[in-house]
Amino acid sequence: MLFGRGKKNPVKIADKGIVEWKYTTCGYCSTGCSIEVGLNADGKPVSSRGVGGADVNRGKLCVKGIFEHEIFTADGRGDKPLLRNHIHEGYEQVEWDHALDKMADEILRIQKTYGRDSFAIVSTGQLLTEEFYTLGKLARGCIGTNNYDGNTTLCMASAVSGYKRSFGSDGPPGNYEDFEHTDCLIAWGSNLPEQHPIIYWRMKEAQEKRNFPLIVVDPRVTMLAQNADMHLAITPGTDVVLQNAIMHVILDEGLEDRDYIAANCSDFEQLEKEVQKYDPVTASKICGIDEDTIRNVARLYANADAAMSIWTMGINQSTHGSDGVVGINNLNLITGNIGKAGGTSLSITGQCNAMGTREWSSCSGLPGYRVLEKPEEREEIAKFWGIDAEFFPKQRGLTETDIFPAIETGQIKGLWLVATNPMTSMANTARIRKTLEKLDFLVVQDSYADVETTQYAHLYLPAATWAEKEGVFTNTERRVNIVRKVTDAPGESQADLWIFNELAKRFENGKKIKFPEAPSDVFDEMRELSRGRLVDISGMSHDKIETQRGIQWPYTSDEADKGIEPPSGGKRLYTEAGTFRYADGKAKLIPLPFIDNNEVPDDDYPLWLNTGRLVEHFHTRTKTGKVGNNNKYSPIPFMEINPDAAEELGIVHGEYVRCISRRGDAVVMAMSTQRVPKNMIFIPFHFHDCVNRLTLGLLDPHSRQPAFKQSAVRVERIEDQQAAAQMSMEMRDF
Ligand code: SF4
Repeated sequence: MLFGRGKKNPVKIADKGIVEWKYTTCGYCSTGCSIEVGLNADGKPVSSRGVGGADVNRGKLCVKGIFEHEIFTADGRGDKPLLRNHIHEGYEQVEWDHALDKMADEILRIQKTYGRDSFAIVSTGQLLTEEFYTLGKLARGCIGTNNYDGNTTLCMASAVSGYKRSFGSDGPPGNYEDFEHTDCLIAWGSNLPEQHPIIYWRMKEAQEKRNFPLIVVDPRVTMLAQNADMHLAITPGTDVVLQNAIMHVILDEGLEDRDYIAANCSDFEQLEKEVQKYDPVTASKICGIDEDTIRNVARLYANADAAMSIWTMGINQSTHGSDGVVGINNLNLITGNIGKAGGTSLSITGQCNAMGTREWSSCSGLPGYRVLEKPEEREEIAKFWGIDAEFFPKQRGLTETDIFPAIETGQIKGLWLVATNPMTSMANTARIRKTLEKLDFLVVQDSYADVETTQYAHLYLPAATWAEKEGVFTNTERRVNIVRKVTDAPGESQADLWIFNELAKRFENGKKIKFPEAPSDVFDEMRELSRGRLVDISGMSHDKIETQRGIQWPYTSDEADKGIEPPSGGKRLYTEAGTFRYADGKAKLIPLPFIDNNEVPDDDYPLWLNTGRLVEHFHTRTKTGKVGNNNKYSPIPFMEINPDAAEELGIVHGEYVRCISRRGDAVVMAMSTQRVPKNMIFIPFHFHDCVNRLTLGLLDPHSRQPAFKQSAVRVERIEDQQAAAQMSMEMRDF
């Protein structure tokens, strides 16, 4: 029998009748892929494709980006403001003016009764940078609360804190091109193929060409670990011990770069004294990596012409997350691996515009990486905005993770959540639920009316999403890229920028400060404020950014005026000696004693609980939970369990089980796999009423980021599998 080509059914690509492709930037993760959305003759978005000429993704998209146009028409979008007096009543649809009058009245009432800081604001990493800057103006300049933060405290705060402590400023010094120059790569708690698939593709392509060693430090055998030359299955929460031990070997064997240290670093002696305590034999007992491996990694890294480290939540979401980042920076500084091609500390950011909020939202200070603690920076911004500098607080207020406990204790009475969903994203769901119920007034501003936290809101404001509006995002490698408007927002939902501008009119200072309506005019203000700063974007414009498919900062007006094309100075930070952001121009080497303060497994709760992401979903599934294919590939919450542990517990692959911690319990499907060791389970964090019912989330002392990845649990078999399946389905469908 012949199986000629013509006998098979040919693959047919559906003709979606696309008449126009519109340029924009992906609104999920921080990789920053350039996307074109295809519109049909009715102007409806029907397809997405990667942009070939864009340096970041070079025509590729991951499974989230490919179906991203579907979020425009997904279920659950809000189309009218909703208001109620009490959270146990039904909502009533109201007009925007009424909604915003009520919101302003409630903010002013709460502040008058309990003080200015009794109303808190928690935003996101999802807005456009122009919106972040405007929200900062409103929060700092008009409402005047100091309890204003972003949900980036859950994902990037430790990276920010670690960069500031080591280099004197936030700002990732490297870029994706560094993969093409490095001779050794350590990935610390970063599972690129699932979390940042296109960065993984860039890394993999570079590795295939040059064959540099890839070392993965992760307690789980992640997809990246399966591709590694060396996998270091570290004991959870002990990264600092491993880092100190690697540095111990480097210094002991004289492999450090003395010239680089002398020219670029301060406090070397203090670091040297601390790492002397971490000989590989002692360290191996704590971090679980044998002494020979520690020595081999140290030699490999220090002897490489250029070596780089990347990291994600495995480092950041820990009680010593900030120290873990400083440890990576210490390692790169003593080996001369900052500011050179292939030598860098590159934090792989989470949300599409987590960098934009770090740079411009004023959450942790004032715009353009300015801080409240410096009087001259308060003066500069007050003058630019046209208000009295005394209106600003003189130091930063509470972070997101401290705002919720302050609601519990009655210090905070009102809260405004912008594009964030703490009922799914925060540790210890039961505690968060009780906290939200205590509020006098909760506003949820989100594109989706059915986001879980809306159940506890008094006011819901429907916002436009992603490419229903215009502005810029900054990606992991400091690349500013443009989101062009592709389609209109549904019903009466409005761009966040419009909402902030309209609310500002209801405050006294809102009449003094200019609130431009056009995103490009807001961008012009940011450009002015960026001149001479590390985050200098003065040479950029919306149109130039689109032409270039994104521009890395810094890109100055001087460079633009001289006709110098980007990336120029924006490729890497700290390429010259004496350019770190401390007054002496040097980076600090900071000793890191290890303090073991985590919840750890014991007789009652004998398993580590590890949490993380899946490639199909983004954060709390407010978007991807509505996209058919993303849901089809990853429909329900599950638990990875080692086959030996499963056998001992009498659990069969595919059965539902109950996971129990000191905070609560969750029902999930068991997936028997060697990806986790026998003393650990892994549950993805995307699903509502699931893993965060179990997590403790102790906080890092510097960044206040929670340790989502280190809790203790036990697992029990469930007899009534049908009831358990029903329970799991309910979680999925919510
Ligand atoms: Fe979007 Fe990130 Fe996927 Fe790129 S890798 S398409 S930015 S989700």
